[in-house]
Amino acid sequence: WSGETAAVVTGANRGIGLEIARQLAAHGLRVVLAARDAERGRAAAERLREEEGLCVEPRQLDVTDSASVDAFANWVSSEYGGIDILVNNAGVNFNTGADNSVESAEEVIATNYFGTKRMIKAMIPIMKPSPFGARILNVSSRLGRVNGRRNRVGDEALRERLLQDDCLSEELIDGMVTKFLEQVKLGTWSLNGWPQMYTDYSLSKLAVNAYTRLIAKRILDKPEGEKIYINCLCPGWVKTAMTGWAGNISAEEAADTGVWVVLLPPEKAPNGKFFAERREISF
Ligand code: NDP
Repeated sequence: WSGETAAVVTGANRGIGLEIARQLAAHGLRVVLAARDAERGRAAAERLREEEGLCVEPRQLDVTDSASVDAFANWVSSEYGGIDILVNNAGVNFNTGADNSVESAEEVIATNYFGTKRMIKAMIPIMKPSPFGARILNVSSRLGRVNGRRNRVGDEALRERLLQDDCLSEELIDGMVTKFLEQVKLGTWSLNGWPQMYTDYSLSKLAVNAYTRLIAKRILDKPEGEKIYINCLCPGWVKTAMTGWAGNISAEEAADTGVWVVLLPPEKAPNGKFFAERREISF
């Protein structure tokens, strides 16, 4: 990696995203700190630049807004000539273990799943060809494991199909979240075997994981020099605003595995895998 390597981190004004941005910049990369609130992004980037001398530039980006994502992609393309690394970190959660309300299900799925997907679609065309291979990391969660202890995906046949790479399709994943959201509107979701804890959040991350595997398969055959590697991360249970500062590790520790994965040398670069604590875990 060189000082020319450009990385984008979404939702990077605080928490795990801010730490991933900081650590990538500390490795000498040029980092675009993307934040939905321009002022919060500017303040975060200024701290990293002034206090640590890092090469970090803020830019407004709301991953739920197509116009914002398109404007962002155009800007990155003209200012940086494309990017080498994309970290899809932006996310929301409104559940706690005790409160499993699905009132915000639409926002959670729109941000965590459709937002991540929108970014991947917008950024793949501007990922720079390089001998290292471009990298995409989706910050997900173990709560999104298809095989997770508490996870169900509506019905057993759907679960089986989600686990088989050959059955995976965008229609399958979108269909799953759409069916869930319809049942939320009808008030019938709890009868239909969806995750029983952190319901909408778990399902959003389950969809991110499945989409990661789908894209990994699609980009597998890209020629040498144009390779893109895409993977998922579970950062652990982290002391951030999202967990109300509960958790057992700091954002700094949580960022470590993500930074490690995206900076692995090309001969060791994984594709379509799920990582936590610097090791591969199952989907
Ligand atoms: P934070 O709530 O601290 O940070 C979330 C970030 O995402 C904020 O910068 C927030 O911006 C941003 N964001 C939310 N919605 C949007 C949007 N529509 N467009 C752009 N940015 C947006 O949480 P964490 O740092 O803990 O979470 C980061 C990622 O890690 C998330 O994807 C989360 O699901 C995942 N994760 C976290 C775990 C934990 O224990 N903390 C465990 C497993 C996964 P704003 O400041 O404006 O709200």
